[in-house]
Amino acid sequence: MVAIEFTSRQKQIVELVKNNQPITSEQLAAKLNMTRAALRPDLTILTMSDILEARPKVGYFYSGKSVNNIGSDFIKSIKVAEIKSSPVVVDEATTVYDAIVTLFLMNVGTIFVQNNGALTGVVSRKDFIKIAIGNNDIRSMPVGVIMTRMPNVIYIKDTDSAYDAVERLIAHDIDSLPVVEPYKDEDGKQLFKITGKVSKTRIAKLLYDMCKQ
Ligand code: ADP
Repeated sequence: MVAIEFTSRQKQIVELVKNNQPITSEQLAAKLNMTRAALRPDLTILTMSDILEARPKVGYFYSGKSVNNIGSDFIKSIKVAEIKSSPVVVDEATTVYDAIVTLFLMNVGTIFVQNNGALTGVVSRKDFIKIAIGNNDIRSMPVGVIMTRMPNVIYIKDTDSAYDAVERLIAHDIDSLPVVEPYKDEDGKQLFKITGKVSKTRIAKLLYDMCKQ
């Protein structure tokens, strides 16, 4: 995981370039009371991040990109395939009781449901609580009866970005998205294979990885 964290010196360089552009590395080094060689790694990082633009024989320009935008560019550049975690999947015929046991054993908040290998639904803590507090026989009731069913399941694909995942989690006020791979059955019906999950917890971990030193 690449952590994007600019040092106070790098931020100082950006400010100097903003106020004095174009400015050469010699001029920058003099202002910072450093040698050009000592300054080079910082200038390399800032030009590679597209924050500064180096024009030969002219000097450095500020690209207009805020140091703070880098985090959002980073989130948008990360693909779901890079961050997805293992999904917990049960069959539609699994009883509500067994699904609740699975929820505890696997320490998750959401379980994905499949039928013949294709995603058919999602069942979460609230769905289980709702059915458990009613007068229901959860030992015989299949999970397929209580789940949120396709086509109402919100999903995401490997090639979407981490930002797309956050957008969907927030827009639909849900904790977890199945990552799917579309395929067609022999009748040409559109189906989805479950290949992973992206949860709010995973997004929090991504932010933590980005920010930790
Ligand atoms: P919790 O029940 O733990 O608060 P959620 O807020 O994710 O979890 O779930 C709230 C409701 O949204 C539940 O009825 C659940 O079935 C449904 N739900 C959860 N994830 C999805 C999803 N990816 N697509 C559609 N509905 C979902």
